[in-house]
Amino acid sequence: MSTTLDTLRREFSGDIIEPGDTAYELASRTVLAQGTPAYVLRPATVADVQAAVSFAGATGLPVAVRGGGHSFPGFGTNADGVVIDLGRLADVEVIDKERHVVRIGPGATWGQVADTLAPHGLSISSGDSRSVGVGGLTLGGGIGWKVRKYGLALDNVIAAEVVIATGEVIRASAEEVDELFWAIRGGGGNFGVVTALEFATHETTDVFFGRIAFPAAEAATVLQGWAAYLRSAPDDLTSTVELANPFAGGPEAPVVVRVVFDGDDPAAAAAAIDPIRGLGTVIEDDVALVPVGATLEEGMVPPPGIRIVTRSGFVDEASVPDVLGILAETGAVEGSPVIAIRSVGGAVARVDDDATAYAHRQAELMFATTMVGPEPVIAARRPGFDATWAKLAPHVSGAYGNFLSSASEADVDAVYPSETYRRLRAVKREYDPGNLFAGNHNIRP
Ligand SMILES: Cc1cc2nc3c(=O)[nH]c(=O)nc-3n(C[C@H](O)[C@H](O)[C@H](O)COP(=O)(O)OP(=O)(O)OC[C@H]3O[C@@H](n4cnc5c(N)ncnc54)[C@H](O)[C@@H]3O)c2cc1C
Repeated sequence: MSTTLDTLRREFSGDIIEPGDTAYELASRTVLAQGTPAYVLRPATVADVQAAVSFAGATGLPVAVRGGGHSFPGFGTNADGVVIDLGRLADVEVIDKERHVVRIGPGATWGQVADTLAPHGLSISSGDSRSVGVGGLTLGGGIGWKVRKYGLALDNVIAAEVVIATGEVIRASAEEVDELFWAIRGGGGNFGVVTALEFATHETTDVFFGRIAFPAAEAATVLQGWAAYLRSAPDDLTSTVELANPFAGGPEAPVVVRVVFDGDDPAAAAAAIDPIRGLGTVIEDDVALVPVGATLEEGMVPPPGIRIVTRSGFVDEASVPDVLGILAETGAVEGSPVIAIRSVGGAVARVDDDATAYAHRQAELMFATTMVGPEPVIAARRPGFDATWAKLAPHVSGAYGNFLSSASEADVDAVYPSETYRRLRAVKREYDPGNLFAGNHNIRP
């Protein structure tokens, strides 16, 4: 089956946007990247997605798939190609009230999901920003405020509907086409366009959430104590640490530990959070009981001309002291990238290593270093950034694909360890042998 532009115009019920159209300027860019695609196709139905895939295949042009448009490398747009923008497939529906199952269109944002679940007393393992899309975050992992209690966003996926390169619609789950189901949970957009995801959600209304800040000078001890404590902390507690935020003083910025205790029992929350308060001199503590949806922030949209360069790594238990030592030193120097460290472990580590294509289950921490600024500032800071990574490299195991702004071969190797890559490649050969879906951390068939 192949679709020409004329057929597409006749049959497509969504939007076809081309250069010169009034909608083009906005439709050609994502949150973090400006593109110049030849066509932006906004399907309104699954049949439209099938037609879009068929059209894209027939043109031979590069293809980009866009969920919420937040990819750091700008995978959701391209130059002179076809963009399939899933923004109109954004329904969020609780389809099984007893089993707490929600079906979500890939163009929905996590804010929409949280707002739909709240009246049902439910919440979901997602990321921590409202504006980020369900599609990209889930297919790459999904590390948010419930990660230690309920696992990654992708660990909560029960089934997915996928339009593959032939245009065929496939339902993938543990019972149906399980190798594709394995691959899409961590293998990103390599295998087709996901048109719906069904997730398990969890009963939650209020949680304890907030920031506990310490002076910058205490960074080294706070970081080491924080990581050591998280190793034995209850899974109800998920926590992150941020250093060297340039908007809060750079090297002088307080060390900000954010916590979520996923429950509303004040005594249990205090028992879980107090050891963090004991790590140093607390200069701010706003932890309070809030509706679970209030743990999601809006998510930044950088103004035009501002670039974001981000690189991430996973840290196993043995390397935690070395990595945190290097990060504390880095954060103390003017011009440091922002350093954000997330606790993982917990429920993530209890899933079998080969159960999904997300391959970094035994890591205790995931961290990202991020430079933000106009191009000359990024260029000036690049040597320092690379020098930090040269020091970190021997201690870091792999990278989190969702927090990488580049897509070199070395990045792909870091996201998918060799055994995972080998298995992903076999699935790719079966479902996308022509590599139609190549605008991603690409598995080469
Ligand atoms: C402000 C901000 C906050 C973030 N916070 C978190 C966080 O808390 N936790 C976390 O884990 N990550 C976080 N991330 C990273 C985020 O997971 C990735 O940027 C992710 O790619 C965003 O998904 P998206 O759908 O918005 O992006 P898009 O750019 O739309 O998608 C990225 C890529 O995913 C693939 N894709 C997306 N949807 C589909 C689909 N339906 N079918 C097939 N392929 C698809 C495509 O290859 C696409 O190009 C954050 C990013 C930003 C910018």
